[in-house]
Amino acid sequence: KGTVSRNFIEQIIDQDLKEGKYDQICTRFPPEPNGYLHIGHAKSILLNYGIAKEYGGKFNLRFDDTNPMKERSEFVESIQRDVAWLGADWEGRLFFASNYFDQMYEAAEKLIRKGKAFVCDLSAEEIREYRGTLTEPGKESPYRNRSVEENLDLFRRMRAGEFPDGSKVLRAKIDMASPNINMRDPVIYRIARMTHHNTGDKWCIYPMYDFAHPIEDAIEGVTHSLCTLEFEDHRPLYNWVVTELEYPHPPKQIEFAKLYLTNVVTGKRYIKKLVENGTVDGWDDPRLVTIAALRRRGYTPESIRKFVELAGISKANSSTDYAMLEYCIRDDLKLKAPRMMAVLDPIRLVIDNYPEGQTEELEASNNPENEALGTRKIPFSRELFIERNDFMEEPPRKYFRLFPGNEVRLMHAYFVKCVGFEKDENGKVTVVHCTYDPASRGGNSPDGRKVKGTIHWVNAATAGKVTVRLYENLIDETKGVYNEDGSMNINPDSLEILENCRVEPALMQAKGYDSFQFIRNGFFCADAKLSAEGAPVFGRIVSLKSSFRL
Ligand code: ATP
Ligand code: MG
Ligand code: MG
Repeated sequence: KGTVSRNFIEQIIDQDLKEGKYDQICTRFPPEPNGYLHIGHAKSILLNYGIAKEYGGKFNLRFDDTNPMKERSEFVESIQRDVAWLGADWEGRLFFASNYFDQMYEAAEKLIRKGKAFVCDLSAEEIREYRGTLTEPGKESPYRNRSVEENLDLFRRMRAGEFPDGSKVLRAKIDMASPNINMRDPVIYRIARMTHHNTGDKWCIYPMYDFAHPIEDAIEGVTHSLCTLEFEDHRPLYNWVVTELEYPHPPKQIEFAKLYLTNVVTGKRYIKKLVENGTVDGWDDPRLVTIAALRRRGYTPESIRKFVELAGISKANSSTDYAMLEYCIRDDLKLKAPRMMAVLDPIRLVIDNYPEGQTEELEASNNPENEALGTRKIPFSRELFIERNDFMEEPPRKYFRLFPGNEVRLMHAYFVKCVGFEKDENGKVTVVHCTYDPASRGGNSPDGRKVKGTIHWVNAATAGKVTVRLYENLIDETKGVYNEDGSMNINPDSLEILENCRVEPALMQAKGYDSFQFIRNGFFCADAKLSAEGAPVFGRIVSLKSSFRL
């Protein structure tokens, strides 16, 4: 903040405050409880929360639960958990739109009494036909001129359950010739016998989104109702509703662009499909970008806040590179995460001149860039594990790790020189033999001798054996996310499970959500769903290499 010019939303609010339109700012995040929140929602949450904080105003969390069809209590809980985790504190201001059904009903009667709404008997299909097109004006409904008394009577009987589902609707009486199709006598109430998660069977009529949403905002005293661009065309209707209902300080709708990630599935509908067809192991599968998935993967609220800030607020749709999200978590964990040694694809290394049966403890800094994380002791002895690809029998040019005759540094330990190796009957290397230089303890030789390679290792006798999961994009990037028929291009290799990894003993105590840098291998997080006490399963959050530059 302070480094960039104020975004267009702040400019509108500044102007409104200057003109005395509102005393205190109030924003809201209005999720429909029909799925888990994703990274796009994080943008909306942090924008609304951030604006409220910035202006010393209020931030409401409101469940937009006016459509009982797809809504479930499971989602009401997950959404609260995710919003809280992101740090958007609603300070007790938790609301349910369904608690306003009485007021919405009253508002509808008010419109009827003003001659601004009528009960229409046209079928859904007829309404669509009568509505016209972009180039053709609509046609008025034959029921448009019913009297106020008749409309009131019919609407009350709709509520009383006298008519079958879909047989009648309440429509706003606006303008069938409007160039904006949303203004052509839109439906504002429908008959639908559905059990609601909050109000049960109390209602058999339900308000439509475009009618309900402005009322919800007005009831709560929301001043600036921030929504995404697809609602821009609905704004005249939003304004019509709050004007006709004569709210003293009507809220104002402002649209901003949705956050999209290139080659990543963000839409709730599509994520749901992947969950239901078993492509992923739930809404929190670490390859997804739901908030729950990002949390399980090892993303922090700070990293997501930073990402949303970098992505910025705009009025034009665009797509953000996933690499920017990765940049943000690397940047956040760089100083926070202890740097430990883990060998993902182990091969045995024997130090021939190290005394058998002896173990010593070496001191290692937990994070050389952040001394506050302290130091730890690492056991060292004659037999170690190193990464299989840190040894080559016949090295190519510029290979500086172990090969016969070459000397490298074992991180935090000693210089070792390769003196031989063993193979099994298939020609696969099974053991690498080295000798060590006792004078190089700590990783430097007193004679000033230099080595080009430094490799990580773990002590064979004390290492823990763990499963490590490596992730790639769920989507086949060469083909893009969606096909014309709505199917997705799934990358068959998005999950690699390594079951034979060896880690420093200290890592065996890791708990779900604990994150580490595994030196040279990336940032990893103990998977909260798969780890057990004393038996952590680690998943890679992100590799260390980055193509993204700020
Ligand atoms: P989806 O299309 O992914 O299902 P939605 O819009 O149906 O999302 P809601 O629960 O209705 O989900 O959204 C709650 C709020 O989050 C709305 O104000 C919506 O505009 C906003 N939102 C949804 N997706 C994004 C996104 N990709 N970027 C920014 N804001 C978003
Ligand atoms: Mg929605
Ligand atoms: Mg949706």
